[in-house]
Amino acid sequence: MKNYDAKPNLSDMSLDEIEGFIARLGKEKYRARQVMKWIYRAGATDFDEMTNLSKVFKEELEKLARIALPLIEEIQEARDGTKKVLFRLEDGCFIESVLIREKNHWTQCVSTQVGCAMGCRFCLTGRYGLERNLLPSEIVGQITALRFNTPEGENIKNIVMMGMGEPLANYQNVLKAIMIITSDAGAGFSKRKITVSTCGVTPMIRKLGEDVSINLAVSLNAPDEKRRSYLMPVNKKFPLKGLIAACREYPMPRRRRITFEYILMNGINDSEKDARTLAALLRGVHCKFNLIPFNEFPGSEFKRPPDKKIRAFHDVLVQEHYTTMTRPSKGDEISAACGQLSGRRGGRPLPNQPFCDSVDGKQSHGGDI
Ligand code: SAH
Ligand code: SF4
Repeated sequence: MKNYDAKPNLSDMSLDEIEGFIARLGKEKYRARQVMKWIYRAGATDFDEMTNLSKVFKEELEKLARIALPLIEEIQEARDGTKKVLFRLEDGCFIESVLIREKNHWTQCVSTQVGCAMGCRFCLTGRYGLERNLLPSEIVGQITALRFNTPEGENIKNIVMMGMGEPLANYQNVLKAIMIITSDAGAGFSKRKITVSTCGVTPMIRKLGEDVSINLAVSLNAPDEKRRSYLMPVNKKFPLKGLIAACREYPMPRRRRITFEYILMNGINDSEKDARTLAALLRGVHCKFNLIPFNEFPGSEFKRPPDKKIRAFHDVLVQEHYTTMTRPSKGDEISAACGQLSGRRGGRPLPNQPFCDSVDGKQSHGGDI
């Protein structure tokens, strides 16, 4: 990555790290909390705004550190109110967040990587490969940037890590981002309001459960090993059997259930028999289902099933006593729906168009297709 500014970015630091940084300047520990509150509670990006710090201290901070967030490049709105936000990062890469309108609040779907290396066959993000991991500042910064620069901002109540990328393949930065989002000096979200969605990196699910109490969503997408390995290469390394065992043992926050996401693809995984197999597979796991009719994109290999089949699949799971939601496709026409995020300007994916405009004019590319 380019060294665009050698000064450390305070937005990449947890409270402990800011405390350490400030202690090295010979200042009191509580100053760290003050600085952090300015960043996450007031949206400050300039030390000058921090009115409870002395002028000398602010000048010192200015010399030795910076506060950098992703820049909002474009916001598109779909007819159903869903908004897709394109961010530009300091090195010229692009990522996307999606704002989903709920009854009385907004849910923000954030990205955790530029692209994704997991190669799921049904996912546009996966098609372009991985460009790089996001830094903690770029994960939390998607939230901070919207909070202080959009009318919806103060009404964002839920965070789902379901945008571009596989959160558990960028574990350390995602964990630090969660710590900052949930710190009372940081963004102050309750852990119950944050969900990490994974394609099933089993050892990291176990680690996440040990490190933090947070909601888990798992993208299942197939009722057996063979089809799952075909659709999601990660299953060859971490098969369904072990994945479900890890889910059984995952310590969810009290009274919460694991969400299993299941994309319905016509003729692939959408029969009533598949629904019954799925129900049997997850018997005894404290969970609920989120069915997502496949969102098509140019060149996609799969099709959305007809509504009748979607309903029949849904009904089998309900008969089997699973709480089941069939998610209406949100923001489809602006490519903001699940699996349609590509970080491209204008929202329309073009083959070989890169995730990043390199700052020195040369272009890096977003993986092979
Ligand atoms: N990498 C993580 C989170 C990002 S993907 C994961 O896989 O869970 C977010 C969700 O979008 C996943 O549940 C995935 O299965 C779903 N998805 C991907 N492509 C899709 C498509 N074309 N149509 C519908 N859902 C899709
Ligand atoms: Fe990556 Fe998730 Fe897409 Fe799979 S579904 S390629 S893990 S973003």
